[in-house]
Amino acid sequence: MTRLRIVVAGAGGRMGAANIRAVAAHPGVELVGALDRPGAAALGKDAGMLIGLETLGVTLTDDTEAALSGADAIIDFTAPAASVALAQAAARHGLVHIIGTTGCSEADDAAIAAAGAAGARIVKSGNFSPGVVTLAALVEKAARALADYDVEVLEMHHNQKVDAPSGTALMLGEAAAKGRHIALKDHSVRVRDGHTGPREVGSIGFATLRGGNVIGDHTVILAGASERIELSHRAQDRSIFANGAVRAALWAKAQPPGFYSMADVLGLND
Ligand code: NAP
Repeated sequence: MTRLRIVVAGAGGRMGAANIRAVAAHPGVELVGALDRPGAAALGKDAGMLIGLETLGVTLTDDTEAALSGADAIIDFTAPAASVALAQAAARHGLVHIIGTTGCSEADDAAIAAAGAAGARIVKSGNFSPGVVTLAALVEKAARALADYDVEVLEMHHNQKVDAPSGTALMLGEAAAKGRHIALKDHSVRVRDGHTGPREVGSIGFATLRGGNVIGDHTVILAGASERIELSHRAQDRSIFANGAVRAALWAKAQPPGFYSMADVLGLND
């Protein structure tokens, strides 16, 4: 069996380490490149040594074109500008591009979708955990069935996270909005402070907590007049995202070029 040849971008980061570990452990894939930002401290180091494994023979580089030559796929959990540039490179080379980066603007997302139309096989998700993606499907159903309940999305992450609300919280908010056939951007309340007045009927609220080394906790609350439903997910290890990203890469290789979600990978949109 030919193994899928994968480049991990952001290899020096927290998710980069988890992605290298997942690729090294999966029999169906092999690590052929490791990218990081120009000037990053980990450049020149062996990807395996960097994360406490044996030498993998792949050195961290900032040379995108060299890293991508001979690759089938990129697993990319970096930063929005880097993901846009990599999506364009993936389109030029006809590669699979798995994007876990969060905090992308509408313009970033449009540029990434355009790369999907131009030859890349892109799977982008605010969360690659199969559990969270399944949770989103449940939230969509619950929000539809309980159409008059107030929806609030609560999340907590480690104290180094730079964007808020988390990509996963927004994904869960999108799922609730989809269940109610409304656009999240027209109905979301992303922060509350001071004299806010009563809650606006039909809005989808967000609350953000930051602290410690929490990998990612999310709860969607549906609050009715005399009852409350809470749908929760707690990530205990970054391997759930990394294993999901490898699964997505293997799935995407067999798809036509385009822009896909993790729900497509799990067959939740069939
Ligand atoms: P991190 O530890 O800061 O890692 C980010 C990595 O990307 C670092 O190695 C960083 O290099 C590198 N990078 C930053 N800008 C870059 C650029 N312009 N070009 C190339 N590389 C660049 O962060 P993390 O915790 O791994 O998270 C990374 C992203 O994944 C975040 O957006 C996070 O929210 C997201 N995430 C998504 C999921 C999911 O399932 N979708 C799960 C967890 C995290 P330097 O350190 O040198 O700056």
